[in-house]
Amino acid sequence: MEKRANVPVVTKEGCDYAQAWARGNRGRKTMKTYRYDLHVHTRETSGCGRVPARRVVDLYREIGYHGLVITDHYLPEFFARLGRRPWPEKVARFLAGYRAALARGREVGLRVFFGLELRFADDPLDYLIYGIDEDFLLAYPELLTADLATLHDLAKAGGFLVYQAHPFRSGSSPAPPELLDGVEVYNGNPRHDSRNHLALAFARRHGLRMSSGSDFHQPEDLGRGGIEVTEELIRPEELVTVLRRQDFHALLGLATVISRE
Ligand SMILES: [Zn+2]
Ligand SMILES: [Zn+2]
Repeated sequence: MEKRANVPVVTKEGCDYAQAWARGNRGRKTMKTYRYDLHVHTRETSGCGRVPARRVVDLYREIGYHGLVITDHYLPEFFARLGRRPWPEKVARFLAGYRAALARGREVGLRVFFGLELRFADDPLDYLIYGIDEDFLLAYPELLTADLATLHDLAKAGGFLVYQAHPFRSGSSPAPPELLDGVEVYNGNPRHDSRNHLALAFARRHGLRMSSGSDFHQPEDLGRGGIEVTEELIRPEELVTVLRRQDFHALLGLATVISRE
C-alpha cells in the first residue's frame, strides 16, 4: 500500500490547483503510478546547474521517480562561447548533460528523455520543448536565431510541443497564447517566485495545456514538480502523447520526496 499523501493543494487567490487537475482520486490508492519530472538541468550543460547528470539521475531514482526530461538551457551565449567549432561539435557539447544522464539512467533503470529550455537571441522568454531530438538540433542550427512564430510552425511540422516556462516569474511575461502548445503552470524552483497561480489562470483563460516541473538546478530542488501517470513511459512519443492529451496528475511541491519509505 502506497503511503504517499495526496498531491498537496496549492491555493492562492482565485485559484485552486486541486480543481485544475481534478479527475477524481478514486482508485488511485491501489493503482501503480509513475512519476516524471519535466524540467531538469545538469551541471555539464547548464551554467546555472550545480549537480552532475549522473548524480541527478541517482537522486531522482532515490525518491521514486521513474524518469525525467533533461531540459538544459539552449542559449545563444552557450554556442557563442564555443567559438568557431563545427556545428556538430557544438551540439555534442550541448548534449553532454543529457548523454551522461541517459547513460546513468540505463545503468540504474531511470528513463531519461530529451528536451530543451530554449531562449532566442532577441526574446527574453524561456520555452520548454518536448519531443524534439538530437537530429533536429544537428540539422537546424538556425533554431537559435529563429523566433516563437517559427518555432511554433516547426513544432507543428515536427510533432514536438512548445510550452512557455514560468511565464509570470519576474523578467518574464506571457507569450502570445496562439503560438504556444502549453504553459508551465507549476514551476517548483524555490529560489524564484514564479507566481504559478497567475500561470494557471493564464493557461485556463486561453485553453492551453498545463505542465509542472521542478526546474531542478540544485539538490534542494529535487522532486518539487512533475507529472504522475498510470502507464510507464518508455518512448519519447509516449511522453508527448501524455502531454498532448493532458493524461496525468500534476505533482506540486515536495509530496513525492516524503512519499518514499
Ligand atoms: Zn537555469
Ligand atoms: Zn529551467
